Amino acid sequence: MDLPKTSKAMVLTEFKKPLELLDIPVPELGPGDMLVKVDLASVCGTDVHLARDELSMHPPTPIIMGHETVGEIFHLPDSVKVDVTGVPVKVGDRIMWSHLFDGECYSCKVLHEPVMCERSRGYGFSPAKELRGGYAEYEVVLSGTDFIRIPDEVTSEEAVGACCAGRTVVNAFDRLYACGGIHQGDSVVVTGVGPVGLFAIVMAAQSGAAKVIATDISPTRLEFAKKWGATDVVNSADFKDSAERVKYIRDLCGGRGADIVVECSGSLAVFAENLDLLAYYGKYLIVGQTSENDIPIVPNKIQRKGAVVIGSHSGDIRHYIKCLKFVRANRGKYPFGEIISKKYKLEDANQALEDMRAGIALKAALVNK
Ligand SMILES: [Zn+2]
Ligand SMILES: [Zn+2]
Repeated sequence: MDLPKTSKAMVLTEFKKPLELLDIPVPELGPGDMLVKVDLASVCGTDVHLARDELSMHPPTPIIMGHETVGEIFHLPDSVKVDVTGVPVKVGDRIMWSHLFDGECYSCKVLHEPVMCERSRGYGFSPAKELRGGYAEYEVVLSGTDFIRIPDEVTSEEAVGACCAGRTVVNAFDRLYACGGIHQGDSVVVTGVGPVGLFAIVMAAQSGAAKVIATDISPTRLEFAKKWGATDVVNSADFKDSAERVKYIRDLCGGRGADIVVECSGSLAVFAENLDLLAYYGKYLIVGQTSENDIPIVPNKIQRKGAVVIGSHSGDIRHYIKCLKFVRANRGKYPFGEIISKKYKLEDANQALEDMRAGIALKAALVNK
């Protein structure tokens, strides 16, 4: 099939300005590069902040955003026969892919942790002319990018959560398991029920925890938490102060606090309060914090409790694969597809971003039909 000459894209031409619908020339593909037709591109909270230049990184504009993308293979080079797990691929198959890591730097070669790659080439953050963002009709998947084929029975709506929130939580739980993990009968508290929190809840629920307690200030999100396996939900706004809330949650954990707290809210105040939820020898897993700001804490709360504090960031193709397997295995049990609250046409991406900022239930997604 002939390659398209141009691709429509909603382009962030300048920070803090609405995205513009532009025709971007499809760049000349290098050997091994794929071209995919975007099937579903979900809008990340990160995009909302990126568009307003509120992140610690400031990539040069114009940018095509979108790093949570399911794409249909449109051009498949002869050199590519299988995905990273060895599953054969053909034109028309749906795939998802990670950022491109160089495989050469200290993080890749010595640490074997490509998410810390010093020269990664991302999707959703790169110059618009390179056509590597999901807010577009077509997207280039560069040679060497790790990708996986999405099984036919898994819908794009179910799969897309694995592209960002899901793989992030799988990586975080791998790190948690390296520090002892979740034991049968444990109490797990997940603070913040966005997409990351939901995946933490469902994976904790499947891990043998006796209690999976979700906290948020949105009743809608707390309803989602129940459907994704939370045994108890707590609206943080229902308490007169922190001490009352902490006591209530500790009591839900049997009075001794939480064996594991997973921070997914992104709030600095929640981050600090969570130290009071921990039981002795509790583990504190931090996945939701992106702010550059600080907050005072009492380090002795960590020391005196013998607590373990674990940070985790993003995920590589291992975590995409495991997350997709998890979704496939449990899709009859949990409504993974409901993570997409509302779908928008590509040209309505500004509305999607606005609705995300205004607090749409979970995620907006752009469709390309
Ligand atoms: Zn994301
Ligand atoms: Zn590297």
